[in-house]
Amino acid sequence: MSANADLHARRTAAVPRGVANATAVYAARAENAELWDAEGRRYVDFAGGIAVLNVGHRHPRVIEAVQRQLDLYTHTAFQIVPYEPYIALAERLNAVAPIDGPAKTIFFTTGAEAVENTVKIARAATGRSAVIAFVNGFHGRTQLTMGLTGKVAPYKRGFGPGPAEVYHLPFPNDRYGVSLDDTLRALQFLFAADVAPDRVAAIILEPVQGEGGFNPVPVELMSALRALCDEHGILLIADEVQTGFARTGKLFAMEHYSVKADLISVAKSMAGGFPLSGVIGRAEIMDRVDPGGLGGTYGGSPVACAAALAVLDVIEAEGLVERANVVGAALTERLRSFTTRNDLLPVSPPRGPGAMVAFDVLASHGSREPDGAAAKALTGRALEKGLVILSCGQFGETIRILVPLTASDAVIEEGMDILEAALAAPQDA
Ligand code: PMP
Repeated sequence: MSANADLHARRTAAVPRGVANATAVYAARAENAELWDAEGRRYVDFAGGIAVLNVGHRHPRVIEAVQRQLDLYTHTAFQIVPYEPYIALAERLNAVAPIDGPAKTIFFTTGAEAVENTVKIARAATGRSAVIAFVNGFHGRTQLTMGLTGKVAPYKRGFGPGPAEVYHLPFPNDRYGVSLDDTLRALQFLFAADVAPDRVAAIILEPVQGEGGFNPVPVELMSALRALCDEHGILLIADEVQTGFARTGKLFAMEHYSVKADLISVAKSMAGGFPLSGVIGRAEIMDRVDPGGLGGTYGGSPVACAAALAVLDVIEAEGLVERANVVGAALTERLRSFTTRNDLLPVSPPRGPGAMVAFDVLASHGSREPDGAAAKALTGRALEKGLVILSCGQFGETIRILVPLTASDAVIEEGMDILEAALAAPQDA
């Protein structure tokens, strides 16, 4: 039995089906935008550990910072014996995050945990309980974040009852026939039918829906939501778990908008592969929770904070915000050339800000009908040819590119060549 097949058999016997695997190749080592499996086969990595590796696998500065921290202490629990890297990271994020006025930051471990805490903080600060989220949004898999996530299968099926007082609005999306006007009218209907605005603690949304298919929030919607929040005393929460840390051509995707969120959840690429998440928010809101109400044993691990400080250094030193725009432009140009090719699978024009780029696999040339099965088969063929790439979207029809921003032009080109070959493959067969 091959090494991958052997590991897969052991995995199948030892680990439940509930955690699905996008691939059955098992990692042996990884470097920047490349990884090698248990059989020594090399892959170009366009998945980046699901948006975690904007600075690539094992960036030397991140590894060095982590090693330095490992020699000092690895865990004391910030709530028991606090430490400087946590404070230094909070100070740095407070200084750069798009928050009105003074900001404060608290750290956790996972993206879902950060999102849960945005809701806790918003509820404590407003004395209200309702939360409004969006169809097709993704906020995590814990009980509350699952409730906020706007997709039943596979995230909610069988896991009820969901949390109380979570409401969903349609997300404006041309592809699915929902206009901005539909969204704003649905909000008015919601206020009239289900929940008075003065009972709403927060509206939460991703500036660019990630798992939902790389759908940016229209500028007009963000402004309209901000105005509604101000009118009714509702807090606006931006879930930047997937969009953060240079991916969209800004450090935070909210910088693409003229209005600001009150609270921002961050995770994934913040710590370059180490488990760390956080909530950044307006200081006066963040301080409304009584001592002891927030936290967690591992929240803000010193090792992960050291990694995150190095990630911020790398983003600055290597100009990764600007690099995201360069990478995004190259990806977009190449993907655009695929849309006119009859010898390739039918695909939509690319979309997304910066290097948060995606396209849809379509049922036929000239149609807009999504084809999730074809997208899934495409990711399989790409893997066979040496490219790890992920799908997303309501029907699984969207192919998303999350290549490290530190990847060389040559590796990015190589990945795009493989993608092109995989798009051509069904015709070869
Ligand atoms: N919010 C967003 C926008 C995400 O993309 C994700 C993860 N894909 C989460 C929250 C949950 O993060 P985690 O898996 O670390 O709990």
